[in-house]
Order: sequence, then structure tokens, then C-alpha cells
Amino acid sequence: MQVYKNYIDGEWADAASGKTLDVINPATREVIARVPDSGPADVDRAVKAARRAFDQDGWPQTPARDRGRILFRIAEYIRRTAGRLAEIETTNNGKPLAEAQGDVSDAGNCFEYYGGLATKIHGDVLTVPDNAMALTLKEPVGVAGQIVPWNYPLMMAMQKVAPALAAGCACVLKPASQTPLSVMELTKGIEECGVPRGVFNVVNGTGGNVGMPLVAHPGVDKIAFTGSSEVGRLIMREASATVKRVSLELGGKSPNIFFADADFEQAIEGALFGVFLNQGEVCSAGSRVLVQEPIYRKLLDAMVEKTKEIKIGPGLAPDTKMGPLVSQDQYDKVLSYIEIGKKEAKLAVGGGRPKDLPKENERGFFVEPTIFYDVDNRARIAREEIFGPVMSVIPFDKEEDACRIANDTPFGLAAAVWTRDIFKALRTVRNLRAGIVWVNHMQPAPVEAPWGGYKQSGFGRELGPHGLDEYLEVKHVYINLDDRPIGWYK
Ligand code: NAP
Repeated sequence: MQVYKNYIDGEWADAASGKTLDVINPATREVIARVPDSGPADVDRAVKAARRAFDQDGWPQTPARDRGRILFRIAEYIRRTAGRLAEIETTNNGKPLAEAQGDVSDAGNCFEYYGGLATKIHGDVLTVPDNAMALTLKEPVGVAGQIVPWNYPLMMAMQKVAPALAAGCACVLKPASQTPLSVMELTKGIEECGVPRGVFNVVNGTGGNVGMPLVAHPGVDKIAFTGSSEVGRLIMREASATVKRVSLELGGKSPNIFFADADFEQAIEGALFGVFLNQGEVCSAGSRVLVQEPIYRKLLDAMVEKTKEIKIGPGLAPDTKMGPLVSQDQYDKVLSYIEIGKKEAKLAVGGGRPKDLPKENERGFFVEPTIFYDVDNRARIAREEIFGPVMSVIPFDKEEDACRIANDTPFGLAAAVWTRDIFKALRTVRNLRAGIVWVNHMQPAPVEAPWGGYKQSGFGRELGPHGLDEYLEVKHVYINLDDRPIGWYK
């Protein structure tokens, strides 16, 4: 069994306490690795190393071209080792291998994209009154603490690390304790690609022992967090004590809206892909499927038929389209929401644990893809994030009803609209309060375009040029061009 160490100040180290955490394969419950169960002393070492790298060793002053080249090398490393990284991701998280391959490829794209952007960081020259000139300079924020969840372990981490390094920041990363393995494997490559000592550090452990001390540490300038709204609120509160910059990518309850004129075959696929991708463990899952009355029954029936064909199994099996949930906690939570749903709405398909699993997977955390229909938008299954393969189908009549129901949620991460009428599509896009709205698709998140939430889904943006801005401060330089005395005290 593989035993991993933290990566602090360019060295591999056990937790100061010597304690470890077990890492499991959710398809079998077998313990597959151990990682350090770190605490505040380990966080402190990592933050001090990052501070030194930032304040004294010259990482922010390293020419942007050279920083960019290091990022390109990491992208190449990811491509070279993609097969192994994807297998590790699937084994640790549960997701089907094809999905893990897509995630790993996107992690590579991320380094390539931000490697290119490193040389394009620039300020402006501004028009100001009097005989003066104003410039803006963009400068790195400093030391960034980065805390990530378990649903896209490698992607979520690297979409924070790549822009931070491009900007000239130093990082301390905390992977989710359930799914640290792909990050730990890639860390070997990051070291090999020439990132200087202390610039990139990884501290493993739980949210309470590592995450919170990182948020509280006065040596950290910025916290980038992806995870639940509940923990996001705690982080915002704690970060206020040291007035850290904070970006929060939180949960969602995203509407996936189907108008009667949508392409019917696309609609079936789009609704299922929207919510069942990654076992439904997707922040932007289209878990509320809003269907216009004329096609409501027909689309529901078609979705049910197609759902019955979804092949559930271990992620590494080539025909698997849905793997296990990530952990016992997540499994219990999703099954308890399914029980709530049985009381609140009508069950169309699924609703429990799949039968006929291979013998070695009988203890895995598998849940059937589940569809509830005639769901009231006030029901708990329509309001609360389940984070599993559970769809709530809600009928609507008019266009304005769709937007009203869609926006009736505390969240605002994502939404999708399906129609062949471009005017209706664009009206709906404008009326939806969400950080991303897809038209005739759901879930693509190209690294070149921004990602983030409205409302209680968080603030700040990752990916695209906006993702780089999160790691940059703006300095205003005012230059007086007049050589006479200012003349106030004359
Ligand atoms: P979570 O429980 O909030 O955990 C996320 C990360 O925060 C983990 O690394 C966790 O550590 C750590 N953490 C937990 N308690 C903490 C604390 N008190 N202080 C500091 N850190 C703490 O969320 P999750 O269950 O892993 O992930 C699912 C959630 O993430 C969902 O709500 C989902 O919508 C959201 N998400 C959002 C996006 C987005 O882009 N908006 C993307 C993906 C996921 P440990 O788990 O190791 O203890």
C-alpha cells in the first residue's frame, strides 16, 4: 500500500504528529493508501516556507516567461502521465475512467492556458485630471491557501494552483482528505518541473485540523475555497479576522429548463447528462429539471427508459457509466434524501441501491440514478443540494413561470435552457440569476472561460482570465508631471 507524505518547502514530510489517515476505494471500501493526518504545526511550516519563497526568494520577480515555461512543463508532465493519473482518480473518487480522463486532460489544459497568460499580465494607463498620469500595475496577491473538495480532486486543485503560479503567488494546498491521491501523484511532477522550493506546498489532513488553521494563519493573504456553502460561511467568518481575500465556489441546485420546442433526442440526453454525470456529485448538477407542459409526460417517460440503461459499476470497468459515491457519509446522505423524496413527490425510477453488482463491489457506495416527478419547487429535494444522482422533475406552463421557478432558490451557480428559438433562449439567459447559463447543453466548463456563482453559490471566479485576476492585486501609481511646488501652503 502506498504511503504518501506532505510536500513542504521542497521536501517530503510526515505530519508532525506522525499520524495518518486511511484513503479508500469507494467501489470496494478497501484501504488503498495512507496520507499524513496533519495539524496546525504542519500548516505553519508550509505557510512559512511559502512566505519565504514569496517575500525573499524572488518567485514574484521571476520573469513571467520563466514562470510560464514551468507551467508548460507541468502541462506536458500531465499529458505524459495522464493514463496513470486518471486511473488513480477513478480508484480514489469512484468516477468512470472516461470522466477521470477528461478531468486530467483539463488539468493539463489549465496549466497550458495560464502558462500562456503569465506573460500577458498587464495594467493600464488612465486619464486623470491635472498634469498627471495614472498607471495600474497588477501584482501577485502573496501566499494563497487553497482548499478543495473531493468531487473533482485534481481539477479543482489545479484550477487554483495554475493561475496562482502564473501570477507569481506561492501556494499551500489542502486536498480533500477522502481524495488526495491524484494531487499527491501530480505533486511529484510539479517538483520535477522546476517549481522552486516553498512556492508550492501540499498539506494533507482534515478541514478542522488543516483547513481552518490555514484560513486563520496571518501569513496567508488569500483563501480560495471550493466546497459546501456551510463550510464556505465558516471560512468567510474566520478569514475576516485577518481581512484575507476570499473566493468561494460553493454549492448549487441548478435548473435545467426544457421548452416544448427543444430537440427531443437532445433533451433526453441533456437532462440525464446534466444531473447524473459524476454520479451527480457535481456542484452545477442540473438537479431541477423544469419541463414545459406539452412535452412533460413524454420527456419523463423517455428519461425513465434511458435511465434504466445506465450501467452502474466500478469506475475502471470499460462499460461503466456511473460509479459509486465517494464515501459512507455521502452514501448515507443521498439515500436519506431519496427517502425524503419518496414522501414529497412521485418516484419514477431508481430509489435505492442497485442489484446485481459484481461480488467485489457489493460493499461499494453505489446508488441507483433516481428520478422524482411532479416535484413542488418548495420540497426539500428541490431546495437542498443532495450531491448525488437524484433528479427532481418540475412541470411549468409559460416562459415566465420557468424563470420564476428557476430563480426561486438561494443558489445561483448554473442553469441551462433548451429551445430552438434563439429569442426565447436569449430572453431566458438574461432572466436567470446564475454564474453560467448553457444554451442547448449542460456542464461544459472550458478552462478558457470563467466559472463561479451568483447568490449563495459564492463569489469570485475561477478559470479564464477572471481566474487569474483572483490572484492579482491592482496597484495605482500616480505620477505628477508638473515640476512646480504643489502650492497648498504658499
Ligand atoms: P466540504 O465539506 O465543504 O469540504 C470541502 C473542503 O473543505 C475539504 O477539503 C474539507 O476538508 C474542507 N473543510 C471542511 N471543513 C472545513 C473547515 N471547518 N475549515 C476549513 N476547511 C474545511 O465540501 P465537500 O463535501 O468536500 O464537497 C462538496 C461541496 O462542494 C458541494 O456543496 C459542492 O456543490 C461544492 N462544490 C462547488 C464547486 C463550485 O465550483 N462551485 C465545485 C465542486 C464542489 P475534509 O473533507 O478533508 O475534512
